Amino acid sequence: MSTACDPSTETSAALKWHELADRVLNGYQLTADDALSLLTAPDDELLDIMSAAYRIRRRYWANRVQLYFLMNAKSGLCPEDCGYCSQSKISDAEIPQYNILSRDKLLAGAKLAAERQSKSYCIVISSRSPS
Ligand code: SF4
Repeated sequence: MSTACDPSTETSAALKWHELADRVLNGYQLTADDALSLLTAPDDELLDIMSAAYRIRRRYWANRVQLYFLMNAKSGLCPEDCGYCSQSKISDAEIPQYNILSRDKLLAGAKLAAERQSKSYCIVISSRSPS
């Protein structure tokens, strides 16, 4: 029986993901089963998957990045009680709190995102849904 600390298990997991990366780099297209394998892989294979995926990313993107501009249009003041969230009504986290930003501020954010060649401009709010 192998465990997460078994070097042979770790090596075979790394090999499996790097072999898949090799195939992709040679033109193979992932199948739905491949995608499912990635999604259901044990947590202790995550670094091996990231290492293999990085080789593919590096081939096609090198050190280039895409910018995504995120505008928090309403911060804090959420009526919901999601325990993990600093914006919930039960959180005492010291975060900026403000109601929905004006149209002008949202448009100014979009202009700034465009000037900085952002790929996307996302507007998010703290709430279950827009009111
Ligand atoms: S609904 Fe969203 S913003 Fe509000 S507490 Fe839950 S996660 Fe946070």
